[in-house]
Amino acid sequence: MMTSKSIPISEIFYSIQGEGKYSGHPSLFIRVGGCNLTCPGFSSHGCDSFYAVDKKYKSSWKMMSVNELIVEIEKYYPCDIILTGGEPTLYYQKFYPIIEKFKNITIETNTTIDIDFDKYPAFKDVSFAMSVKLSNSGEEYSKRVNKKAIKNIAKNAKKSFFKFVINSDVNSEIEDIIKEINLPIYCMPLGETKGELEKNAIFTFEFCLKHNYFYSDRIHIRLFSKKKGV
Ligand code: SF4
Repeated sequence: MMTSKSIPISEIFYSIQGEGKYSGHPSLFIRVGGCNLTCPGFSSHGCDSFYAVDKKYKSSWKMMSVNELIVEIEKYYPCDIILTGGEPTLYYQKFYPIIEKFKNITIETNTTIDIDFDKYPAFKDVSFAMSVKLSNSGEEYSKRVNKKAIKNIAKNAKKSFFKFVINSDVNSEIEDIIKEINLPIYCMPLGETKGELEKNAIFTFEFCLKHNYFYSDRIHIRLFSKKKGV
């Protein structure tokens, strides 16, 4: 039964963070169900985590209370905790007891939802992996870029960083998004299989050199391709 404290969870698994600032860290991944975008440009299914976005898969999502999630986290903690999805900030108020209780939390977000840092100040210690979607996501600009939300996170949560999925379609759009924000920028190759990843990796490598951005590989795709829960 859905309660006000219930969060739809697509999967929970312990693995190695495969991309971005904390790449290589042993981490507990909590993947929520539901997203406010669909990203039709990313694969034949749209988003590469389609089973956590497409409502067709809703029956596989488990409604969990925050206390049940805390019990799961305590089985693995101390390790990094990754709230991912889907879009975890859809439920950010409900996650707050976890944010207050644990350290080393990353929230992987499309950064379209404004966080109320005054009311929920513990979010200032969270690292937001701001994966703002680019035109290669297939989403409209007005849906995928919320500059107010981006600036608010950058101002309040100083451990945060940008994480962009790129291929040769990317032009100057990253510069538009990062303007006036001083946070690390990671770019990683688009692709949901090892082959696709390798096809875009050289371009990404050279793009990072040219713009002085950090290159991030995607360890889980390189090692396991489309396998879930790794
Ligand atoms: S924002 Fe992320 S989770 Fe949502 S549809 Fe796009 S890629 Fe998938």
